[in-house]
Amino acid sequence: MIKYNLTCKCNCTFDSWFASSGEFGRLMKKKLITCIECNSNNVNKSIMAPNVSSSKKIGNINYKFQKNIKKKITEYQKFIKENCRYVGDRFAQEARNIHYNKKETKSIYGRVTIDEIDELNEEGIETITIPWYDKTEN
Ligand SMILES: [Zn+2]
Repeated sequence: MIKYNLTCKCNCTFDSWFASSGEFGRLMKKKLITCIECNSNNVNKSIMAPNVSSSKKIGNINYKFQKNIKKKITEYQKFIKENCRYVGDRFAQEARNIHYNKKETKSIYGRVTIDEIDELNEEGIETITIPWYDKTEN
């Protein structure tokens, strides 16, 4: 077991245990590591800054980077809201309904937990997760 200190785009930091560094990499790649505060998967290992001046530089770059990302995500959200049906916390259930009954052709979106994503993937149901900003955040 290995413990990492993780940082989220919402500035939340938290510790999390992983089976190995490889396991951490695998979960990161599949975007299955989510923030304990805001449930976003925009988390990363904390970077130990060697000194104050360079950490300030990193902060500025991150800020610009995050602004661009946020713009992209906002565009995605707009597209999703216009083209998909919101199912809230019932996402896993609804995804299964569509997968097994093939009743509905319209895509859905909603909230889902890491465990649920894992289960859906195992059942061959494809999901895409993106970080989600609430409207009120602006
Ligand atoms: Zn967060």
